[in-house]
Amino acid sequence: MPKKINYCVRCVMPDTKPDLSFNDEGVCNACQNYENRKKIDWESRMSELKQILERYRKKDGSNHDCVIPVSGGKDSTFQVIKVLELGMNPLCVTATTDKLSDIGRHNIENIKKIGVDYVEVTTNPAIRRKINNIALKQVGDISWPEHVTIFTIPIRIAVQKKIPLIIWGENSQHEYGGPADAVETNILNRRWLEEFGGLNGLRVSDLLGLEGIEKKHLIEYTYPSDKELQEVGTTGLFLGYYMPWDGPNNAFLAQAYGFKSYPRIVEGSIVSFENLDNLQMRIHDYFKFLKFGFDRVSDWASIYIRRGRLTRDEAMHLIHMHAGKFPSSYLGCSLEEILFDIDMTIEEFKLVCDRFTNKKLFKTDSNGNLLRDRYDNLIKLNYDNE
Ligand SMILES: [Zn+2]
Repeated sequence: MPKKINYCVRCVMPDTKPDLSFNDEGVCNACQNYENRKKIDWESRMSELKQILERYRKKDGSNHDCVIPVSGGKDSTFQVIKVLELGMNPLCVTATTDKLSDIGRHNIENIKKIGVDYVEVTTNPAIRRKINNIALKQVGDISWPEHVTIFTIPIRIAVQKKIPLIIWGENSQHEYGGPADAVETNILNRRWLEEFGGLNGLRVSDLLGLEGIEKKHLIEYTYPSDKELQEVGTTGLFLGYYMPWDGPNNAFLAQAYGFKSYPRIVEGSIVSFENLDNLQMRIHDYFKFLKFGFDRVSDWASIYIRRGRLTRDEAMHLIHMHAGKFPSSYLGCSLEEILFDIDMTIEEFKLVCDRFTNKKLFKTDSNGNLLRDRYDNLIKLNYDNE
């Protein structure tokens, strides 16, 4: 049965998005969360944050005060700037991404130059590429290993170096809508990772025995034990809980500190300052479109609508122009080259795409075959409420 998508009447998010819910007026919980943010007393949140940081500050300079997980993106650059402003001495930790772009490398080097100690952990790339391939075929998410290691690696480093406090950026469940208790939480723990970290039900242990992957290859993909976490007293907090989080504003500040944006809007998006590090990222976003009928264009259009920077009509227009396009290139790199790395041809890729496409959301012919326009793009049944 075809499914007509319902869209939030205020932003443009669809009801197919996991964990998104709507109130009686048809407003999604991400929009409601944003409205509720206006009632927050940010000054008292900031003083709460300062008290927490004071507790973790090493007055004798014997160790770092906190770990900041950083990708090199606009948000992590912003995190570093803010944490330094608050007088902390962080250790920045990067889990190397899947297929790092030149601009991504520039932005990582730029964070170091702001003035921090820095660790980069690279998982075995030969194994990593196998996991990308397996995850794309099994759960339709090429970025699954990234979702795992951006959490496990900073936490492992924090445990090893006995630095209890980890400062994360935004709680994605907040801006993007999620269950109420996940929105309210200001900490990130193992439960949060398993529930909201985007693992799609594929566990790290499921990889054992596939394509010659052994336990020894998965050390960095493994969350520390509860005993290890307790010994160090590891705790994480979301900076976005203590200060109003605003992606475009973060990019603006980051640029003033040397962060480089893309010279034009990124393929599959409507902004130039996000997801510039990992060349596989567009495949990740395209699968979101195939599964749920929305991608980064809808995400960003909605973020701008909530902030009063775009009308809903303007957002709809941008969606028609840019959303859901077949990912033939990213940051100027061809799909063929990106797939070559994970040992997949474009023909194989298209078959995997078909397998993960929610056919109820898209136009098909009378035999149930997906229809495409002349640029190979799928056509949604409905792009707005009717
Ligand atoms: Zn909404």
